Amino acid sequence: MKERILQLQPYKPGKSPEQIKKEYNVDEVIKLASNENAFGCSPKIAKAVQEALKEAATYPDGNAEIIRQKVAQHLQVKENELLFGAGLDEVIQILSRVLLCEGDNIVTANQTFVQYKHHAVIEGAEIREVPLVDGRFDLEGIRSAIDEKTRIVWICNPNNPTGTYVTEEELVSFLHKVPGYVTVVLDEAYYEYVVAEDYPETVPLIKNYDNLIVLRTFSKAYGLASLRIGYAVGNEVLIAKLNIGRLPFNTSTIAQVAAATALDDQEFIKHTVSETRTGIELFEQELETLGVSYYPSQTNFIFVHTKDPQAVFTKLIEKGYIVRPMPNGVRISMGTMEQNKAVIEILKNDINKDLLV
Ligand SMILES: *Cc1c(COP(=O)(O)O)cnc(C)c1O
Repeated sequence: MKERILQLQPYKPGKSPEQIKKEYNVDEVIKLASNENAFGCSPKIAKAVQEALKEAATYPDGNAEIIRQKVAQHLQVKENELLFGAGLDEVIQILSRVLLCEGDNIVTANQTFVQYKHHAVIEGAEIREVPLVDGRFDLEGIRSAIDEKTRIVWICNPNNPTGTYVTEEELVSFLHKVPGYVTVVLDEAYYEYVVAEDYPETVPLIKNYDNLIVLRTFSKAYGLASLRIGYAVGNEVLIAKLNIGRLPFNTSTIAQVAAATALDDQEFIKHTVSETRTGIELFEQELETLGVSYYPSQTNFIFVHTKDPQAVFTKLIEKGYIVRPMPNGVRISMGTMEQNKAVIEILKNDINKDLLV
């Protein structure tokens, strides 16, 4: 096998709620570890999916027309400026597979979504990681790391796991300076949650930059993580080439129908976003009062700095709340208001202040 495969690990899912219930002797387990939508998905989806199940015996439309038309209309782009994948995970794989050769390099941040790196290693590309500054992508640093072998710059905006964002001004100035042979990928998995006024509206920019790709997903605010569907928007020539690296039937009819129904229910998105934002603001306010350091978030999760992430993780899991430990903190996904308040109470009352920074 490829020797470089040996330096990687397969994706390790967290323990199942059932395992945790047994191991920690808790009755109920709330998962706040994967940034899923605590409010589920649009109630209209169940019926549409039920109907689509009648087609289970036939292959899906490989071109995903049902959802392609909807998204094209929603974003005001051409249908051939879109590429659909089994979640963004697959779109990231396609981009890496099509664009990276051995000896090429990618440039990204040192603390961001891990799949960019994973696929670069598989393709034999070098990884250049530029440190975040105050939890934010350092676009100047990234620009300095680009050379003639750079093929992809991955910018996660807002960034997972820090929740911070790159502004329109920073991005436009960066795009202006990046050489045309570098594909700049903006991963906007949390786009719907953003409230900051200076966050860039990037889809119109693909008209000016044929090396720009924007990624969006139905897994987060739309609440369809289990159905696996997301997409890339970009210049039609580049999209056509990426399409060569795509599996013929990569998104199921069920996923296509569910996504189309989800896109039509913008009321659900409004509700999700407003409830989530209230949760984020409550966390920020309470952490402020506690004197605990965190990154201001434009997403459905918050990154809390902790001296001993594993200890904080364990304390929360003993109370039935699963969060995601990181080397320098914990990432907590927003739950319902009741769940958010419960987590805050645990941080306040059950965790030694010395463990939090
Ligand atoms: C969740 C997430 C993804 C993957 O989403 P899927 O569409 O479910 O594969 C990609 N990028 C970021 C930054 C994410 O947080």
